[in-house]
Amino acid sequence: MTRIFCVANQKGGVGKTTTTVNLAAGLARVGQRVLVIDLDPQGNATMGSGVDKRALQLTVYDVLLESATIAEARVKSEKVGYDVLGANRELAGAEVELVELERRDKRLKGAIAAVAADYDFVLIDCPPSLSLLTLNGLCSAHGVVVPMQCEYFALEGLSDLVNTIKQVHANLNPDLQIIGLLRVMFDPRITLQQQVSEQLKAHFGDKVFNTVIPRNVRLAEAPSYGLPGVVFDPASKGAQSFVEFAQEMVQRVEAA
Ligand code: ADP
Ligand code: MG
Repeated sequence: MTRIFCVANQKGGVGKTTTTVNLAAGLARVGQRVLVIDLDPQGNATMGSGVDKRALQLTVYDVLLESATIAEARVKSEKVGYDVLGANRELAGAEVELVELERRDKRLKGAIAAVAADYDFVLIDCPPSLSLLTLNGLCSAHGVVVPMQCEYFALEGLSDLVNTIKQVHANLNPDLQIIGLLRVMFDPRITLQQQVSEQLKAHFGDKVFNTVIPRNVRLAEAPSYGLPGVVFDPASKGAQSFVEFAQEMVQRVEAA
Protein backbone atom coordinates (compact mmCIF):
# COMPACT_ATOMS: atom_id res chain seq x y z
CA MET A 1 0.00 0.00 0.00
CA THR A 2 1.27 3.47 -0.91
CA ARG A 3 1.55 5.89 2.00
CA ILE A 4 0.78 9.46 1.09
CA PHE A 5 1.97 11.94 3.70
CA CYS A 6 1.92 15.72 3.89
CA VAL A 7 4.73 17.48 5.66
CA ALA A 8 2.89 20.46 7.06
CA ASN A 9 3.07 23.24 9.61
CA GLN A 10 1.60 26.65 8.89
CA LYS A 11 4.72 28.35 10.22
CA GLY A 12 7.57 29.12 7.84
CA GLY A 13 11.15 28.13 8.54
CA VAL A 14 10.29 25.26 10.89
CA GLY A 15 11.97 22.57 8.79
CA LYS A 16 9.21 21.27 6.49
CA THR A 17 11.30 21.19 3.35
CA THR A 18 14.37 19.86 5.14
CA THR A 19 12.21 17.09 6.58
CA THR A 20 10.59 16.29 3.22
CA VAL A 21 13.79 15.94 1.19
CA ASN A 22 15.80 14.18 3.90
CA LEU A 23 13.04 11.76 4.82
CA ALA A 24 12.65 11.04 1.08
CA ALA A 25 16.39 10.44 0.69
CA GLY A 26 16.46 8.34 3.86
CA LEU A 27 13.53 6.22 2.65
CA ALA A 28 15.26 5.78 -0.71
CA ARG A 29 18.40 4.65 1.15
CA VAL A 30 16.43 1.89 2.88
CA GLY A 31 14.99 0.68 -0.42
CA GLN A 32 11.66 2.49 -0.62
CA ARG A 33 10.28 3.94 -3.85
CA VAL A 34 9.54 7.61 -3.20
CA LEU A 35 7.88 10.54 -4.96
CA VAL A 36 8.29 14.06 -3.54
CA ILE A 37 5.61 16.56 -4.52
CA ASP A 38 6.57 20.20 -4.04
CA LEU A 39 3.45 22.22 -3.22
CA ASP A 40 5.31 25.41 -2.29
CA PRO A 41 5.75 28.08 -5.03
CA GLN A 42 9.19 28.76 -3.54
CA GLY A 43 10.29 25.45 -5.06
CA ASN A 44 12.80 24.71 -2.29
CA ALA A 45 12.05 20.99 -2.19
CA THR A 46 12.54 20.90 -5.97
CA MET A 47 15.93 22.64 -5.86
CA GLY A 48 16.93 20.73 -2.74
CA SER A 49 16.32 17.49 -4.62
CA GLY A 50 18.73 18.38 -7.42
CA VAL A 51 16.08 19.58 -9.88
CA ASP A 52 16.37 23.07 -11.40
CA LYS A 53 12.94 24.65 -10.94
CA ARG A 54 13.62 27.25 -13.67
CA ALA A 55 14.27 24.57 -16.28
CA LEU A 56 11.07 22.56 -15.69
CA GLN A 57 8.67 22.23 -18.62
CA LEU A 58 5.88 20.79 -16.47
CA THR A 59 5.27 21.19 -12.75
CA VAL A 60 2.66 20.49 -10.09
CA TYR A 61 0.91 23.61 -11.40
CA ASP A 62 0.09 21.83 -14.67
CA VAL A 63 -1.08 18.81 -12.69
CA LEU A 64 -3.42 20.89 -10.52
CA LEU A 65 -4.90 22.54 -13.60
CA GLU A 66 -5.15 19.11 -15.24
CA SER A 67 -3.12 20.07 -18.29
CA ALA A 68 -0.58 17.33 -17.45
CA THR A 69 -0.46 14.08 -15.51
CA ILE A 70 2.09 13.29 -12.81
CA ALA A 71 3.53 10.61 -15.11
CA GLU A 72 4.30 13.38 -17.61
CA ALA A 73 5.49 16.01 -15.17
CA ARG A 74 7.62 14.03 -12.70
CA VAL A 75 11.38 14.02 -12.92
CA LYS A 76 13.65 11.18 -11.85
CA SER A 77 16.43 12.72 -9.78
CA GLU A 78 19.27 10.20 -9.99
CA LYS A 79 21.46 11.99 -7.45
CA VAL A 80 18.91 11.70 -4.66
CA GLY A 81 17.29 8.37 -5.54
CA TYR A 82 13.67 9.50 -5.74
CA ASP A 83 11.25 11.15 -8.16
CA VAL A 84 10.18 14.78 -7.95
CA LEU A 85 7.03 16.57 -9.05
CA GLY A 86 8.48 20.06 -9.01
CA ALA A 87 7.16 23.53 -8.36
CA ASN A 88 8.19 27.05 -9.20
CA ARG A 89 6.74 30.56 -8.97
CA GLU A 90 4.04 29.71 -11.48
CA LEU A 91 2.34 27.74 -8.71
CA ALA A 92 1.52 30.96 -6.83
CA GLY A 93 -1.06 31.66 -9.55
CA ALA A 94 -2.76 28.31 -9.10
CA GLU A 95 -4.29 29.46 -5.85
CA VAL A 96 -6.39 32.05 -7.67
CA GLU A 97 -7.12 29.92 -10.72
CA LEU A 98 -8.26 26.92 -8.66
CA VAL A 99 -10.91 28.90 -6.82
CA GLU A 100 -12.95 29.07 -10.03
CA LEU A 101 -12.71 25.37 -10.77
CA GLU A 102 -14.72 22.35 -9.72
CA ARG A 103 -13.18 19.79 -7.34
CA ARG A 104 -10.67 22.50 -6.51
CA ASP A 105 -9.49 20.79 -3.33
CA LYS A 106 -9.38 17.24 -4.78
CA ARG A 107 -7.29 17.75 -7.91
CA LEU A 108 -4.02 16.49 -6.52
CA LYS A 109 -5.71 13.45 -5.01
CA GLY A 110 -6.95 12.22 -8.38
CA ALA A 111 -3.59 12.82 -10.01
CA ILE A 112 -1.69 10.88 -7.32
CA ALA A 113 -4.06 7.92 -7.60
CA ALA A 114 -2.93 7.39 -11.20
CA VAL A 115 0.74 6.88 -10.21
CA ALA A 116 0.43 5.62 -6.63
CA ALA A 117 1.30 2.04 -7.63
CA ASP A 118 4.78 3.22 -8.64
CA TYR A 119 5.65 4.25 -5.07
CA ASP A 120 5.85 3.09 -1.47
CA PHE A 121 5.78 6.68 -0.21
CA VAL A 122 4.52 9.97 -1.63
CA LEU A 123 5.71 12.95 0.43
CA ILE A 124 4.07 16.32 -0.11
CA ASP A 125 5.99 19.44 0.97
CA CYS A 126 3.35 22.02 1.91
CA PRO A 127 3.68 25.82 1.86
CA PRO A 128 3.64 27.73 5.17
CA SER A 129 -0.09 28.49 5.16
CA LEU A 130 -3.43 26.77 5.38
CA SER A 131 -4.20 27.69 1.76
CA LEU A 132 -5.97 25.94 -1.10
CA LEU A 133 -2.60 24.41 -2.02
CA THR A 134 -2.17 22.94 1.46
CA LEU A 135 -5.80 21.81 1.34
CA ASN A 136 -5.07 19.89 -1.86
CA GLY A 137 -2.22 18.22 0.00
CA LEU A 138 -4.37 17.39 3.04
CA CYS A 139 -7.18 16.04 0.85
CA SER A 140 -4.72 13.72 -0.92
CA ALA A 141 -3.00 12.29 2.12
CA HIS A 142 -3.39 9.51 4.65
CA GLY A 143 -1.49 11.45 7.19
CA VAL A 144 0.43 14.49 8.25
CA VAL A 145 3.98 14.64 9.50
CA VAL A 146 4.49 17.81 11.54
CA PRO A 147 8.05 19.05 12.00
CA MET A 148 8.39 21.39 14.93
CA GLN A 149 10.95 23.25 16.94
CA CYS A 150 10.69 22.88 20.67
CA GLU A 151 10.16 26.56 21.38
CA TYR A 152 7.88 28.52 23.63
CA PHE A 153 5.03 29.16 21.17
CA ALA A 154 5.29 25.80 19.46
CA LEU A 155 2.34 24.20 21.23
CA GLU A 156 0.13 27.23 20.63
CA GLY A 157 0.82 27.16 16.88
CA LEU A 158 0.17 23.45 16.84
CA SER A 159 -3.44 23.79 17.97
CA ASP A 160 -4.38 25.69 14.76
CA LEU A 161 -2.91 22.93 12.64
CA VAL A 162 -4.52 20.19 14.73
CA ASN A 163 -7.91 21.93 14.33
CA THR A 164 -7.48 22.22 10.58
CA ILE A 165 -6.57 18.55 10.34
CA LYS A 166 -9.68 17.67 12.40
CA GLN A 167 -11.87 19.74 10.09
CA VAL A 168 -10.43 18.22 6.94
CA HIS A 169 -10.85 14.79 8.51
CA ALA A 170 -14.50 15.49 9.35
CA ASN A 171 -15.53 17.19 6.11
CA LEU A 172 -13.24 16.31 3.24
CA ASN A 173 -10.91 13.39 3.90
CA PRO A 174 -11.86 10.75 6.48
CA ASP A 175 -8.49 8.99 5.93
CA LEU A 176 -6.49 11.90 7.28
CA GLN A 177 -4.69 11.55 10.59
CA ILE A 178 -1.64 12.96 12.31
CA ILE A 179 1.13 10.45 11.73
CA GLY A 180 3.43 12.15 14.11
CA LEU A 181 5.27 15.16 15.41
CA LEU A 182 8.95 15.36 14.58
CA ARG A 183 11.22 17.37 16.85
CA VAL A 184 13.68 19.21 14.61
CA MET A 185 16.61 21.61 15.06
CA PHE A 186 16.83 20.22 18.55
CA ASP A 187 19.55 21.38 20.93
CA PRO A 188 19.56 19.29 24.12
CA ARG A 189 21.72 21.87 25.91
CA ILE A 190 18.81 24.30 25.91
CA THR A 191 16.65 23.60 28.96
CA LEU A 192 13.57 25.20 27.41
CA GLN A 193 13.77 22.81 24.45
CA GLN A 194 13.91 19.85 26.81
CA GLN A 195 10.89 21.19 28.71
CA VAL A 196 8.83 21.75 25.55
CA SER A 197 9.86 18.31 24.34
CA GLU A 198 8.53 16.78 27.58
CA GLN A 199 5.28 18.77 27.25
CA LEU A 200 4.88 17.49 23.72
CA LYS A 201 5.26 13.90 24.86
CA ALA A 202 2.82 14.47 27.73
CA HIS A 203 0.22 15.94 25.31
CA PHE A 204 0.66 13.78 22.26
CA GLY A 205 2.09 10.54 23.64
CA ASP A 206 3.25 8.12 20.96
CA LYS A 207 2.31 10.61 18.23
CA VAL A 208 5.73 12.10 18.97
CA PHE A 209 8.34 10.30 16.90
CA ASN A 210 11.17 8.70 18.88
CA THR A 211 13.77 10.09 16.50
CA VAL A 212 14.93 13.62 17.23
CA ILE A 213 16.63 15.70 14.51
CA PRO A 214 19.45 17.78 15.97
CA ARG A 215 20.43 21.24 14.82
CA ASN A 216 23.20 20.43 12.38
CA VAL A 217 24.93 22.83 10.03
CA ARG A 218 25.42 20.20 7.31
CA LEU A 219 21.64 19.95 6.90
CA ALA A 220 21.52 23.72 6.39
CA GLU A 221 24.43 23.73 3.92
CA ALA A 222 23.14 20.88 1.75
CA PRO A 223 20.42 22.85 -0.14
CA SER A 224 23.01 25.20 -1.64
CA TYR A 225 24.51 22.12 -3.30
CA GLY A 226 21.05 21.04 -4.50
CA LEU A 227 21.06 17.98 -2.28
CA PRO A 228 19.38 16.65 0.85
CA GLY A 229 21.81 16.42 3.78
CA VAL A 230 21.40 12.64 3.72
CA VAL A 231 23.06 12.59 0.29
CA PHE A 232 25.38 15.60 0.73
CA ASP A 233 27.10 14.36 3.89
CA PRO A 234 25.83 10.92 4.92
CA ALA A 235 28.24 10.77 7.88
CA SER A 236 26.90 13.94 9.51
CA LYS A 237 24.78 13.75 12.66
CA GLY A 238 21.85 15.35 10.83
CA ALA A 239 21.96 12.87 7.96
CA GLN A 240 22.23 9.91 10.31
CA SER A 241 19.23 11.06 12.29
CA PHE A 242 17.13 11.40 9.14
CA VAL A 243 18.04 7.87 8.05
CA GLU A 244 17.06 6.72 11.54
CA PHE A 245 13.79 8.63 11.11
CA ALA A 246 13.16 6.89 7.77
CA GLN A 247 13.65 3.53 9.48
CA GLU A 248 11.25 4.52 12.27
CA MET A 249 8.72 5.58 9.63
CA VAL A 250 8.94 2.26 7.81
CA GLN A 251 8.51 0.39 11.10
CA ARG A 252 5.50 2.53 12.03
CA VAL A 253 3.66 2.03 8.77
CA GLU A 254 4.37 -1.71 8.82
CA ALA A 255 3.03 -1.96 12.37
CA ALA A 256 -0.08 0.11 11.53
P1 ADP B 1 10.32 25.36 5.98
O1 ADP B 1 10.23 24.49 4.78
O2 ADP B 1 9.39 24.95 7.09
O3 ADP B 1 10.16 26.81 5.65
P2 ADP B 1 13.14 24.73 5.95
O4 ADP B 1 13.22 23.27 5.90
O5 ADP B 1 13.37 25.49 4.70
O6 ADP B 1 11.78 25.19 6.62
O7 ADP B 1 14.17 25.17 7.09
C1 ADP B 1 14.37 26.55 7.43
C2 ADP B 1 15.87 26.82 7.58
O8 ADP B 1 16.41 26.05 8.65
C3 ADP B 1 16.66 26.43 6.33
O9 ADP B 1 17.68 27.36 6.15
C4 ADP B 1 17.22 25.06 6.70
O10 ADP B 1 18.43 24.79 6.00
C5 ADP B 1 17.46 25.21 8.18
N1 ADP B 1 17.35 23.93 8.90
C6 ADP B 1 16.31 23.04 8.85
N2 ADP B 1 16.52 21.99 9.65
C7 ADP B 1 17.74 22.18 10.23
C8 ADP B 1 18.53 21.44 11.19
N3 ADP B 1 18.09 20.29 11.71
N4 ADP B 1 19.73 21.97 11.55
C9 ADP B 1 20.15 23.15 11.04
N5 ADP B 1 19.47 23.89 10.15
C10 ADP B 1 18.27 23.42 9.75
MG1 MG C 1 9.67 24.98 2.81
